[in-house]
Amino acid sequence: MNYIVIDFEFNGAFSKRHHRFFNEIIEFGAVKLDENLNMIDTFSELVSPQISKKLNSHVSQLTHIKMNDLKESNNTFTHVLSKFKKFLGDGMLLSWGNSDVLVLMENCRYFYGEETLPFLKAYCNLQSYCEAALDYHDRSRQMGLSTCAELLGIGFEDDTLHRALTDAELTSLCFQKLYRPELFEKYVDVCDERFYQKITFKNYNIYDLRDPNVNKKEMFFLCDQCGRKAFRRSKWRVKNKTFRAKFRCFRCRREFEGRITVKKCFDSVKMIKRIAEIPDPKHKDKARSRSTENESTQPTVNE
Ligand SMILES: [Zn+2]
Repeated sequence: MNYIVIDFEFNGAFSKRHHRFFNEIIEFGAVKLDENLNMIDTFSELVSPQISKKLNSHVSQLTHIKMNDLKESNNTFTHVLSKFKKFLGDGMLLSWGNSDVLVLMENCRYFYGEETLPFLKAYCNLQSYCEAALDYHDRSRQMGLSTCAELLGIGFEDDTLHRALTDAELTSLCFQKLYRPELFEKYVDVCDERFYQKITFKNYNIYDLRDPNVNKKEMFFLCDQCGRKAFRRSKWRVKNKTFRAKFRCFRCRREFEGRITVKKCFDSVKMIKRIAEIPDPKHKDKARSRSTENESTQPTVNE
């Protein structure tokens, strides 16, 4: 089976017909890898937009694509998509992050009125896979493609990035370097009904202690100085969708505020803990949170 690594460039436009913003695909880029991950073919097409009247400044700055280039391509979305479907065949689709698939769905919904992508058989989010393969844990944000390439020692030129084919090629190089069959298998989704539920699921924060997704046994803190379990000295309260309580380590005589964000994801609940200095009521604005962070993930459903 072949692997098709995709990347799209898209432009935000207001659709008068649907009275809402729409991410219109303006460029398709894809790399085809054979079962041994050799690059065997590429796909690169511009799309002449049907809704966008002009390109947003950040899109033209990032991609250096000009409206004229798009118009001169004389390609409609439906035309390019039908060519792409032939290129994809029954291969597996891969992309850096979910957003390309969501944008493809958005475009297919707009131009065909279809809610799913019937030509997709299997999909892998390479961002999640590469984070797992590299054991990358930055809780504040997801790993960017250029960060991943840098960590792997893959050279690239900044100004050639943000074009569909270049990004798809760089994604493929990361995939080649990090491919481990057993781990990879766990990150492949079959594109059935559950896949569409999962990919369109919007994570949300839980801030009601009675919610059964909140595992109260996990709502403890270890002292950031000695590592011993700290004692909770106040009731939990909620601020900014985060649970907060005062804690004290009797050994260090250290008091701090424990902050817990509980995030409901499609098939798991993530608990993100942070230790903050107790805000001084006189200088509320100056209270800054400290960096110690840990996270525990409790799957609610076995995959
Ligand atoms: Zn301590």
